[in-house]
Amino acid sequence: MSSPLLQTSNQKQKFKIALNTWFIENRKDYPWRRTQDPYAILVSELMLQQTQISTVIERGYYTRWLEKFPNWETLAQATQEQVLSAWQGLGYYNRARRLHELAQIIVSEYDGQLPKDFDTLLSLKGIGDYTAAAVSAFAFDQAYPLVDGNVIRLLSRIYNYRKPIDKQPGKGHILSWATELLDTKNPCVYNAAIMEIGQQICKKKPQCLICPISNFCQAKDFQPEVLPIKKNRTKITHLDEHAIICVHNNQILLAQETGSRRKGFWKLPTRSIQAVKPLMLALNFSYAITRYKVQLYLYVAKPNLKVAQPQEDESWFEINDLKELPLGSPYKKAIQKYLTQG
Ligand code: SF4
Repeated sequence: MSSPLLQTSNQKQKFKIALNTWFIENRKDYPWRRTQDPYAILVSELMLQQTQISTVIERGYYTRWLEKFPNWETLAQATQEQVLSAWQGLGYYNRARRLHELAQIIVSEYDGQLPKDFDTLLSLKGIGDYTAAAVSAFAFDQAYPLVDGNVIRLLSRIYNYRKPIDKQPGKGHILSWATELLDTKNPCVYNAAIMEIGQQICKKKPQCLICPISNFCQAKDFQPEVLPIKKNRTKITHLDEHAIICVHNNQILLAQETGSRRKGFWKLPTRSIQAVKPLMLALNFSYAITRYKVQLYLYVAKPNLKVAQPQEDESWFEINDLKELPLGSPYKKAIQKYLTQG
């Protein structure tokens, strides 16, 4: 499939010039754009995988991480607890565990240097197609096309593709268009530009009137906002969670998280609905995690009650030590609220 507006090499060249010119004038000054250190770039890519740029920057996660672990060596030497604690609040903690494991491999097997070769990068645990391409483009200025959600949305509109993009042949079309349009002489700028125009202009609600590449867009007069079409929409599941808060002598009872995603974290102990029935409800609020929307109910439990007896994987912690402990964000928020309410 090709676009009548992007068929000749002259048209493609004009498209790249329009994109790059816009970018040079409008680019955001993100901290990872001020470096070519492969470590710092990889950290930013993993942080941004499931988290908004504003969270990573404005809440200081990226800067704090690099202050704490400025290179592969310091990260490799850190404990899992320190790593999870620094990632706390960003969610999807497997990213932090993968980065930690990767640091140990880079130090022990690659002399502390991230390999430049694309296939070697891809062979490393935790580095997928997108991350390998991003590091190749932004750290090593190598020509690999980047395909993230912004690029998919933009290309599906440029080519007016009205079939699902999350299954074949849609996925294949997107990759081949991204490869075809890639500026191989300047992949770092081009890749950053196409992603940013997707973020700033070709958003969910596209800003076609100010779009610098609208001359090349086939969908602009045909409801581009309905694109891209997705077959597999993620279904949200609603869950209730009943947890107890038990505080005694400046200590609090916590439970270890189970399951691979949140291994190494602590949370408030959960109990069955029957067990918490006689207790006083202190507060409740909802939080989202992956494809779940959870309503958390928090009950006050006196330490002498049966419901508050520590079960397997539950322990008492000094409240003053909670800052250093990897503690899931909803539980941290619940504890803070409860303690400040009195
Ligand atoms: S013209 Fe509109 S739909 Fe097309 S790329 Fe620009 S913003 Fe997106």
